[in-house]
Amino acid sequence: SKFVYAFGVGKADGDGSMKELLGGKGANLAEMTSIGLPVPPGFTLTTEVCTAYYDNKHAYPDSLAAEVDQALKVLEQRMDKTFGGSENPLLVSVRSGARASMPGMMDTVLNLGLNDQTVQGVIKQSNDPRFAYDSYRRFIQMYANVVKGMNGEVFAKILVQKKEEKGVELDTELEADDLQQLVKEFKASYKEHLDEDFPEDPMQQLWEAIGAVFGSWMTPRAVTYRKLHGIPSDWGTAVNVQGMVFGNMGDDCATGVAFTRDPATGENYFYGEYLVNAQGEDVVAGIRTPQPINLAKHKEGDLPSMEEVIPEGYAQLVKIREILEKHYKDMQDIEFTVEKGKLYMLQTRTGKRTAQAAIRVAVDMVAEGLITEREAVLRVEPEQLDQLLHPSLDPNAEKNVIARGLPASPGAASGQVVFTADEAEEQNRLKKKVILVRIETSPEDIHGMNAAQGILTARGGMTSHAAVVARGMGKCCVSGCGEIKIDYEKQQIKTKSGEIVKRGDYITLDGSAGEVMLGVVPKVEPEVSGNFATFMGWADKFRRLKVRTNADTPHDSKIARDFGAEGIGLCRTEHMFFEGDRIQAVREMILAENVEGRKLALDKILPMQKGDFIGLFREMKGLPVTIRLLDPPLHEFLPQNDDDISELANVVGIRFSEVKEHVANLHEFNPMLGHRGCRLGITYPEVYDMQVRAIMEAACELVKNEGFKIIPEIMIPLISHVNELKILRANAVRVAEEVCADYGIKIDYLIGTMIELPRAALTADAIATEAEFFSFGTNDLTQTTYGLSRDDAGHFLPEYIERGVLNKDPFIALDQRGVGELVKIGFERGRSTRPGLKVGICGEHGGEPSSVIFCHKLGLDYVSCSPYRVPIARLAAAHAAL
Ligand code: ADP
Ligand code: MG
Ligand code: MG
Repeated sequence: SKFVYAFGVGKADGDGSMKELLGGKGANLAEMTSIGLPVPPGFTLTTEVCTAYYDNKHAYPDSLAAEVDQALKVLEQRMDKTFGGSENPLLVSVRSGARASMPGMMDTVLNLGLNDQTVQGVIKQSNDPRFAYDSYRRFIQMYANVVKGMNGEVFAKILVQKKEEKGVELDTELEADDLQQLVKEFKASYKEHLDEDFPEDPMQQLWEAIGAVFGSWMTPRAVTYRKLHGIPSDWGTAVNVQGMVFGNMGDDCATGVAFTRDPATGENYFYGEYLVNAQGEDVVAGIRTPQPINLAKHKEGDLPSMEEVIPEGYAQLVKIREILEKHYKDMQDIEFTVEKGKLYMLQTRTGKRTAQAAIRVAVDMVAEGLITEREAVLRVEPEQLDQLLHPSLDPNAEKNVIARGLPASPGAASGQVVFTADEAEEQNRLKKKVILVRIETSPEDIHGMNAAQGILTARGGMTSHAAVVARGMGKCCVSGCGEIKIDYEKQQIKTKSGEIVKRGDYITLDGSAGEVMLGVVPKVEPEVSGNFATFMGWADKFRRLKVRTNADTPHDSKIARDFGAEGIGLCRTEHMFFEGDRIQAVREMILAENVEGRKLALDKILPMQKGDFIGLFREMKGLPVTIRLLDPPLHEFLPQNDDDISELANVVGIRFSEVKEHVANLHEFNPMLGHRGCRLGITYPEVYDMQVRAIMEAACELVKNEGFKIIPEIMIPLISHVNELKILRANAVRVAEEVCADYGIKIDYLIGTMIELPRAALTADAIATEAEFFSFGTNDLTQTTYGLSRDDAGHFLPEYIERGVLNKDPFIALDQRGVGELVKIGFERGRSTRPGLKVGICGEHGGEPSSVIFCHKLGLDYVSCSPYRVPIARLAAAHAAL
């Protein structure tokens, strides 16, 4: 097969659809070339080379060398230069490019092909020795660092020394002679550290650089990034070899990065940063402070923009922005270089963006006629919405702003200051909330960024490593906060006004405003409005699956309804047993000697439960409400230590020893599989009777007095055999009919069950004869199918996932093969005996996108999830239907 794909002068062997083979960068370089954009010519070594390299003990395919030679010849012709030539030498960049973009993960070598001879050729051609030596010293440094793994600090130090010697501040102020001197010193240092001469042979340089890119695929930081983002390691990276263009040839040259729209807010304005007379990653690395590309959002004190300084280059860039957006129909993240006033495109890819920006861009692009509503809905990943569903700073809260930086990634976060990624991870493990504070971040910090609530950096722009990675993670970030002084040694921050913030002190970040505040600032609940509401409206048009919520209180119900919940799928009544002084009555009930005693205690609880249900029904305004009867074992309601037991004994007026005996009697070795759920209902029928009465009286009162329409759904938990349900259903019907007769009205109600035990799923055809609805309790069904307790899984499940024994936590994403199979069997068998059976799920999985899609495909009626995940489930349900 073919291992090398060329691009240049309007022609390309590949195209934008070939990301798997050419990597993201290579595919888009080919695509941009074919649509006529100015891309320096080059060629791509495919990802198959990388895979073969690792499969064959680091050996390349046989035909590769010949293909590279051939491609290099074509490249020489297209650039009209000779690789290694002493008259007009061709210099190239060697760039990695995985399928999915991995910012900063893989390294790039620029100006490759330079040696003591070719540098003379460059001087002759450019008539600019300063430029030639500037490129040369950069090349030696990058080569030593990227290819040979030498610490870049060594060279940075020599450079600083040189600048001090000359009494200048900027690299650009160094002259040709200084740079020529630097090249010598760099080479000497290279030899000293690596014990070999800097390679003068360009072909050797090229192959070693190619090898380094393939090698970097397996570096720990690349492996970490892939793990965090679920990128399989067998995808491999491609290598791009590309003719150099130069942004460091003088003041009509520049290099920069831009987003075709604002990646933080999604606003349709051209956002970017550039540096004059600079090369490569100077912008991203935060070596010099980047300048804005245009005047659109010019602020007092901003450095001159590209629009002013290099107007022709900027004009070309603006045109290309339009072409790219029309062509890709999405926001692009681009890299460019201007050489002597002429613009070159070096990269384009779909721009990473915050959830807020994703929605705004999608909604705007529909209005602009670029995409359809359907495409817009598919543009936003359901899980991404999570970012919008967290609290933001309370606008009315008092805040003590101690510093301002760039609003790099929105959201609000509070936590204790830590200064290293390792400490962030450590504290996170101890369940502490931290803000990671760094002068700047690098790929080595990713694990700490992931563990922190938010990230604060002193250096770097909106396109710095910290900003890009934080946006990708949906983490709040304030970057480029130059006014603070971070002292790693003293473990403290000093603000402009001289205030000291120490490690462990609490701060709050506002990533939307770029503000840093002292202490923990109060936050407010998010809401679905504006573009977000428009967008969710489109999602709702496409979905079939209904979305309900798991809520036990009117407060949670209201939040869920505001997020678009279409009913309550699970109300856990046991939570109501703990409210206020009710627990007292509950305990009396448990300690009662006989049915009469229990009934007396239950009579006290009845009005309170009824009040709870009235509140819920009112809040849900006629939407369906499923109420689960008492589920946990009774011992959960009793105190366990002697002090509390004796206090209880006093209050109830029973002897301590008697209460203690009760507690001991109720002790179970495995409560999860013990005397709970419908088993309580069978042995203590008066408890469920009371609950059914409370539900029905609440409904009757609202129907009778307030004209409500309510169909209560009474759900009986932990059924494993149809006979259990037969008994409990008969009891419930008896009580319900009594209540209706008392109120003199007839209201409809449904009686159904949870399917959370494998036996229930397997015998669902029988169970459905007694149930009007099923709700799959996939939390317990996962526990009982795996035979594993969620509370104890923490000891081994993380290792299972780490080692790939399981590829996902089955309590987060529904195990479709196993647990999902039981859901499918239960659903089909249930419908086989009762065709109209209503079916939903109410486990944690109801708000997890892959599980929601599974439920849609199966044909369930609804999923039910926590209030904050309702919009995520709505969007996932839309994706499932598209
Ligand atoms: P990354 O994936 O880390 O962004 P790139 O391969 O895109 O690495 O290279 C980083 C930067 O190097 C580019 O943004 C660009 O500025 C510069 N660069 C790469 N190739 C060339 C080239 N052929 N000519 C000029 N600059 C280049
Ligand atoms: Mg890089
Ligand atoms: Mg790049």
